[in-house]
Amino acid sequence: MKILEDRIRREGTLLPGEVLKVDNFINHQIDPQLFMQMGEDFYQHFKDQQINKILTLEVSGIALAFAAATYFNVPVVFAKKSQSLTLGDDVYQSTITSYTKQKTYDIRVQKSFLNQSDRVLIIDDFLAMGQALGGLIDLCDQAGAQVAGIGIAIEKAFQPGGQLYRERGYEIYSQARIEKMTEEEIIFCQN
Ligand code: 5GP
Repeated sequence: MKILEDRIRREGTLLPGEVLKVDNFINHQIDPQLFMQMGEDFYQHFKDQQINKILTLEVSGIALAFAAATYFNVPVVFAKKSQSLTLGDDVYQSTITSYTKQKTYDIRVQKSFLNQSDRVLIIDDFLAMGQALGGLIDLCDQAGAQVAGIGIAIEKAFQPGGQLYRERGYEIYSQARIEKMTEEEIIFCQN
């Protein structure tokens, strides 16, 4: 998606450990117009997949999933990273390790929000090692829900997550796929 690639080139900065900082428009401050275009782009890609639910991970995935959901006209469920009083014990739970935060935590979804009649589009902001995605897929598997597609804003294609899950047969669409990034330049995959 060219507008996203241009924006990353213009405003993305590199942090140590091959972390791309896009706080200007995705992870801290959000550009709603860009997000709506990204949401429509996900819709154009997955509109024939009979999606009836979008699943994402709090916090950064929520706005993107919401933008997409307005085009699909389906509900958004976001996996929670912390236990809360309102969330009972009747949950699907999975454990993931965060690449950027370098810590392991549980994610959970109340069982009533995910079930075997669901055809789920998973949406997230980044795909790197595939940990977060693996956790979301695991929640769908526990519920017996079908993962009908995976939509990612930024895939760091030089890290193994994308290849791992494509080889497992998942349909992953990434709007910007980074082949390589250095202090001087960010190179995107051509496909
Ligand atoms: P993974 O589990 O695939 O390693 O990473 C996915 C999650 O880690 C995303 O949900 C995102 O929050 C975070 N993440 C991974 N790499 C980056 C990065 O380069 N920049 C930012 N901002 N977040 C990242």
